[in-house]
Amino acid sequence: MMRMIHGEKVTGVGIDGETRCAHWHSPLDVIAIRFRCCGDWYPCSECHAEAASHDVQVWPRDEFDVEAVLCGKCGRKLSVNEYLDCGYVCPECGAGFNPGCSRHLHLYFEMG
Ligand SMILES: [Zn+2]
Ligand SMILES: [Zn+2]
Ligand SMILES: [Zn+2]
Repeated sequence: MMRMIHGEKVTGVGIDGETRCAHWHSPLDVIAIRFRCCGDWYPCSECHAEAASHDVQVWPRDEFDVEAVLCGKCGRKLSVNEYLDCGYVCPECGAGFNPGCSRHLHLYFEMG
């Protein structure tokens, strides 16, 4: 499915109005990620795997200034660097993001 959230087209499975999906739907699961491979917004890598027919490309470190994270609460876009430095709190609206996402950063961003 596709859903417009804060003016961005977000693709995935079972998306709610704040970018939660069928895979991640706690109160804190309120970000979408723009994938480097296609430039499209998805709530998570599993949504990308189900909806896209290509392999994921992670954001390379020298492109971490690109706005690739969307706050589902307020629509603020964060660069990868901003997201990694935000302490899992939206710098715009103060919404908490899921700190458990730290285990999955390598799925989206060049880490280590
Ligand atoms: Zn893609
Ligand atoms: Zn998902
Ligand atoms: Zn926000």
